[in-house]
Amino acid sequence: MVATPIGNLSDMTYRAQYVLDNVDLIAAEDTRTSGVLLRHYDVKTQLRSYHSYNLKTETPKLVKLLKQGKSIALISDAGTPGISDPGYQLVQACIEQEIKVIPIPGASALTAALPVSGLPINRFVFEGFLPQKKGRKTRLEWLSQEDRTVVFYESPHRIERTVNDLIKFFGDRKCVMARELTKKFEEIFRGNLSDLKTRLEVKKIKGEIVLLIAAKSL
Ligand code: SAM
Repeated sequence: MVATPIGNLSDMTYRAQYVLDNVDLIAAEDTRTSGVLLRHYDVKTQLRSYHSYNLKTETPKLVKLLKQGKSIALISDAGTPGISDPGYQLVQACIEQEIKVIPIPGASALTAALPVSGLPINRFVFEGFLPQKKGRKTRLEWLSQEDRTVVFYESPHRIERTVNDLIKFFGDRKCVMARELTKKFEEIFRGNLSDLKTRLEVKKIKGEIVLLIAAKSL
C-alpha cells in the first residue's frame, strides 16, 4: 500500500519511489493520472488499473498474481490508498490468503489538513465523504453530537450544500477549510461556518477540499 503525493510531486518518499521501481506490477486507480507521477520519477514498472468499478473482477486476479510470487504496489490517484479510495477489499483478500501487506506511508489529505487546522487533533473523527442522499441526515445528526474534531472530504461542487447542512445540524461552529493542499493555490480558511458560507458566496471555489469542524464542546 504505497502513498503518493496529493499535489506537490516532491512529497514522494524515497521508499515509495524505490518500491514502485522494483515491484512487478503497479495497480493504480487511474493509469493516466498515475502515469504523470511515474514519468516524473522515471518509473517504468507496468501499470494496471484497479478502481471501484473493476475491483470485483480485478481483486482475485491480483491475488492470484501475488500467490504466484509477484509483488504488487497499490497506489491511488493521490495520497494514501484505501482512504476514501479503493484498497481495503484487496487488503482483505490478501489477509484471507495470508499474503503479506506492507505499508509505505506518506501523504494524505487527511494528515496534511489536521495539523494546520489549529483545532484540537489529539482525538478526531474522519467521516470522509458525506452520503449525497440516503443516510445524509442521520450522519449529520449523529456527527453533530461528536465531542471530537470532525473531518470531511468534499468537492467544490458540493461544498455550499454541505456548509448549509452543517449550519443546520451543527449550528455556527468553528471550522477550517483546507483547500488545494501542497498545490499552487493552497488555502487554509479558518472561521465559523457562517463565515465560510459568506466566503463561498463571494467567490466560487475550485480544487479539492478537506473540511474540519470543531467539536461540540469547543
Ligand atoms: N486517498 C486520498 C488521501 O489519502 O488523501 C483521498 C482520496 S479521495 C477520493 C479525494 C478527496 O481527498 C478530495 O475530494 C478531497 O476532499 C481530498 N483531497 C485530495 N487531495 C487534496 C488536496 N491536495 N487538498 C485538499 N484536499 C484534498
